[in-house]
Amino acid sequence: MKLTILGATGSIGQSTLDLVRRSDGDLRVFALTCANNIAQAVADAREFRAAHVVTSDPLHYGALKEALADTDITVHAGAQAILDIAAYDVDMVVSAIVGAPGVAPSLAALKAGNDVALANKETMVCAGALAKRIAAASGIQILPVDSEHSALAQLLKDCALRDVHHVDITASGGAFLNLTLDEMRHVTPEQAATHPNWDMGQRITIDSASLFNKALEIIEAKELFDLTPSQINVVVHPQSIIHAAVHLVDGGSMLHMGLPDMRHAISYALRRGERRDIGLGHASLIELGDLNFFAPDVQKYPAIPLAYAVMEQGGHCGAVFNAAKEVALDAFIAKEIPFLTMSEVVAQTLEIMSRQAEITNDILDVKSVLEVNDRARQTAQRVIASGALCID
Ligand code: NAD
Ligand code: MG
Repeated sequence: MKLTILGATGSIGQSTLDLVRRSDGDLRVFALTCANNIAQAVADAREFRAAHVVTSDPLHYGALKEALADTDITVHAGAQAILDIAAYDVDMVVSAIVGAPGVAPSLAALKAGNDVALANKETMVCAGALAKRIAAASGIQILPVDSEHSALAQLLKDCALRDVHHVDITASGGAFLNLTLDEMRHVTPEQAATHPNWDMGQRITIDSASLFNKALEIIEAKELFDLTPSQINVVVHPQSIIHAAVHLVDGGSMLHMGLPDMRHAISYALRRGERRDIGLGHASLIELGDLNFFAPDVQKYPAIPLAYAVMEQGGHCGAVFNAAKEVALDAFIAKEIPFLTMSEVVAQTLEIMSRQAEITNDILDVKSVLEVNDRARQTAQRVIASGALCID
């Protein structure tokens, strides 16, 4: 199986490459993309004998080219080159660029008729309806990689939508689960970037601490599985063993569990649902000890109610939500705003942009998604600069 891995140098990209390493040679790397981590991209391109390597940043082209000068690997640079490689005919594109920059490449891959193993949740949040339309038109598959969505895909595989009463998506609660609201006002980006269970990229780790990651995931779940917002619950489960539950109309429920390791979900997506022994251990019911579950405190995690409002409004609201969240996250990482102010930036951006009628319009094409993303980013930046936020 010929793979293109978008965002190969990141956490999901590296876990995917580990599965290639563990495969019996049937998984092969055709192309890898990266942003700034040229050393990792070079090492991976050599190890996996990729035919193409792409950096999104043209400034790195020279260094990448020079480092691979003794090989026959073709080197490319720039955002268009990422779109071009995503559209190149392969068996599967792994979409693992972080954030909004991953949306257009996912759509380019789908449009070209490539099945997509989708880690980039922003694709479904910003352009879910469009992605589904493109996939349906080309008869191709979007295979979820996010652990909760992989769990749902596995649970819902032989289950009619009419049999589903509701689903639970679990959230670890991230770094600050045991802090009070008051204590959360003063946390630092360094504290937010440590996760109790999962080893992930910096941005998604901080999003886990604010539950913005879960907020994105419930929108992603609505789009991927055609659920209504009221059918989706968030359940805080600090041990991250149960990833999702499906509750059926007849009163039965099915749960999916596993140790927190993304390779399980990635393998299931790469193999289109075929199961392989990839050498991972199991969560033992005897050894697990207590598992806890409770509803999220919406005072501490306003991202969750905001996500429900976004799902109700529909259209481009997901793109606005994500863009404002990305700007707020950058500002928090740069220590320009406190942790809890991120959700206020998002709420105010949504409120300002909701007054523009076209925000709830149907998502027509990738151009309109990118335009809304840019406008929402500018609005969020103005919200931060205006000083009209409660920063205490
Ligand atoms: P990461 O930060 O570890 O890696 C991101 C990758 O994207 C890197 O290869 C980086 O070079 C590339 N990249 C960054 N900016 C780019 C740009 N502007 N253009 C092109 N490439 C760019 O991120 P990650 O944790 O691997 O997450 C990737 C995606 O998968 C995210 O959407 C995240 O929400 C999702 N996801 C991650 C996990 C996880 O366990 N890490 C789990 C579920 C879903
Ligand atoms: Mg997840």
